[in-house]
Amino acid sequence: MKITILGCGGSFGSPLAWNRHGNIDLNNKRNFRTRSSVLIEDNNNNILIDTSPDLRQQLYNIQCTNIDAVLYTHEHSDHTSGLPDMRAMSLINQKIIPAFMPKEMKSKMEIFYKYIFKGEKDYLPFMKIENLENNFSINGTNIETFKHNHGSIDVQTYKFGKFAYSTDLKKFYNEDIDKLKNLDLWIVGLLREDPHPAHAGFEQVMEFINYIKPKKTVFTHMTALLDEKKLKDKCPPNVVPGYDGMTINI
Ligand SMILES: [Zn+2]
Ligand SMILES: [Zn+2]
Repeated sequence: MKITILGCGGSFGSPLAWNRHGNIDLNNKRNFRTRSSVLIEDNNNNILIDTSPDLRQQLYNIQCTNIDAVLYTHEHSDHTSGLPDMRAMSLINQKIIPAFMPKEMKSKMEIFYKYIFKGEKDYLPFMKIENLENNFSINGTNIETFKHNHGSIDVQTYKFGKFAYSTDLKKFYNEDIDKLKNLDLWIVGLLREDPHPAHAGFEQVMEFINYIKPKKTVFTHMTALLDEKKLKDKCPPNVVPGYDGMTINI
């Protein structure tokens, strides 16, 4: 399984034109972050998690020409609003692409993106909403999902065997964190150093890491307040900030 971090920025991306930077080094290309999304290549299957507003550029950067399915973590616009860019993926491969999403997202997505899911006037639908089950499979790739807390809403963690992706994480419900024990790779959202009402801060994310002990942890969804090198220097060697274009084989 090959995992590519297409984007690892928070909702504004990084850096910012108005210079609200936490002393990030602008000579370090890894501090240039598009909005969060990840591509999983497994069994000749290309699975995309979230459609960030930067999707077109992200797919261009890695020369990706096919997506077999999209999995959504939650409805926030930094995770969904690149959806219209999927039209090219449908057209060039002549297929309707399934979009898996939690049921609370479904009606909003159908209204916002009616032409995509239902078609409108001359435009035929090019994606199809699929209901999300706790365990499901896409062309032989088995996926497990559960909800974690993101302030006033919930977000899906997705788990593919020994890899899991938990972005926009404030806390886990009940004993769900135990489902993440024995991971080879955990990609987890770290918005900024300090806690935010909808995102855990650095100390809390490190507590999660110290509890589940993944072999490797990669941070995503980082604001321009987090400098890649400074963050790396304060973490153990198996905990690293991600960067756009990072690939990991597990
Ligand atoms: Zn977000
Ligand atoms: Zn969010």
